[in-house]
Amino acid sequence: MSKVEVIRLLSVAPEGLNAHLCEVEVQIQRGLPCFHIVGLPEASVREAKERVRSAILACGFHFPLGRITINLSPGDLKKEGSHYDLPIALGILLHTKQIPATKNLSESIILGELGLNGNTRPAKSCFAKVISLLESRFKHFIVPKENENSLLHLRGGWYYGSTSLIDFKNRSWENHFIAGINSESPRQEEELYIPIEHQEAAIAALEIAAAGNHPILLVGPPGSGKTSLARSLPQMLPELSYEEKLSVTKIHSLGGQFHREELLKSRPFRCPHPGVTSAAFCGGGVHAKPGEVSLAHHGVLFLDEFSEFQPLVLENLRIPMVEGKILLNRQKSQQIWPASFLLIAAMNPCHCGWLGDREKPCKCSNNQLIRYQQKISGPLLDRFDLKVEVKRPSKAISATFRGVSLKKIRERIKQAREIQNARGKGLNTYLQGIKDIGNICSKAEDLWTRAIQSSRLSVRGSLQVLKVARTIADLNTKCRIDSDDVAQAIWYQSISRRVL
Ligand SMILES: [Zn+2]
Repeated sequence: MSKVEVIRLLSVAPEGLNAHLCEVEVQIQRGLPCFHIVGLPEASVREAKERVRSAILACGFHFPLGRITINLSPGDLKKEGSHYDLPIALGILLHTKQIPATKNLSESIILGELGLNGNTRPAKSCFAKVISLLESRFKHFIVPKENENSLLHLRGGWYYGSTSLIDFKNRSWENHFIAGINSESPRQEEELYIPIEHQEAAIAALEIAAAGNHPILLVGPPGSGKTSLARSLPQMLPELSYEEKLSVTKIHSLGGQFHREELLKSRPFRCPHPGVTSAAFCGGGVHAKPGEVSLAHHGVLFLDEFSEFQPLVLENLRIPMVEGKILLNRQKSQQIWPASFLLIAAMNPCHCGWLGDREKPCKCSNNQLIRYQQKISGPLLDRFDLKVEVKRPSKAISATFRGVSLKKIRERIKQAREIQNARGKGLNTYLQGIKDIGNICSKAEDLWTRAIQSSRLSVRGSLQVLKVARTIADLNTKCRIDSDDVAQAIWYQSISRRVL
């Protein structure tokens, strides 16, 4: 019996946040013409048959008559997406010796969709797929031309951007691999201003939140500038490192967040609508899309109109806020997605919005006030390390006002984060117990104990006070937490008695 030749090419099989190497095996035997794809292909992969057949014929090759079997291995992993078209077509052309077999072809990771005319089409989430495999032993990638340019900003890897099946007719394509080089130089510290006047106290609280990644709640009437304050937060945070950029880009690539993919440079700012569903908020679903909590990874998650969010949706914040990741159940498997964000929420003090305002009176009835307060229950408020009252500025904005300079604020935040990283226990909001807080002077400890004894602090609140005090000390480059730091941190805990 003669041996039946099998062609093996490499591609990629995504699974949630990660992607695995996938072998595309092509076998053509004599027999009645048929074309099978096996290895758990979903509908989009099964449709490759029609695209591949048309593309091969349109480029002037002949389509073999016989039993064609394509096996996508590993066979126990579901295969989704149209990016298997190109490796399948090249496998058939290699098997029928219509294109030359080369080491570069058999050792490259190949992905791309084909049009009926044989031209390549950009592969969806190409960035995420390539980033996942950069650590594998194969460093060469054959991708659609449209995807090539953006991939060149990735460190490591060699890329060939193909336009059509015709490119592979002779071996000249092998001379066109381009190395990925990330040649970005650190950004020059530009002068940034935020257009918020007379809100020094709120900006100081944002600085603490940004330094220790502390969840922060802003409470104030309409027009007090809560949204502008929240929007200034990403600019206060230090620049993303290259590894952070990779991680953020990968998540956004999987979320289909940009049409033309590129390496994201700035920190994400996500502002979901209060009517957002749990699935959109946390992620998951049939196609394992990242949710808002993961899209905000390494950036800012802003929940405006906080009191309007469904309690069930907010319940999902609990684990990401403690662990910086979210666990998703998907059919029979579980996936862990990163979700380490800086949470900022904003809300009105009452239903009409004017409770405590110095000019406009609150029009809420007693019942309305009680209902509103019940909506934002104690455990929910407890999640915030910092709670800040934002008042409407008493003075009019001056004509000459340029904005608040962020230069010094950014420097202090960067330095405070470096101090925390050097301590090796993560940012202060993630500290687990009192022993992680470190050096605290006896006066400060007395003040803290007295606050607990007078029941001004909940159990969770007492640890939050120390974490925030640690950040305030770090911002002032002090090793030891003193009583001023603790007093300030207690103030940020006590809003429920002052406003709500
Ligand atoms: Zn009111």
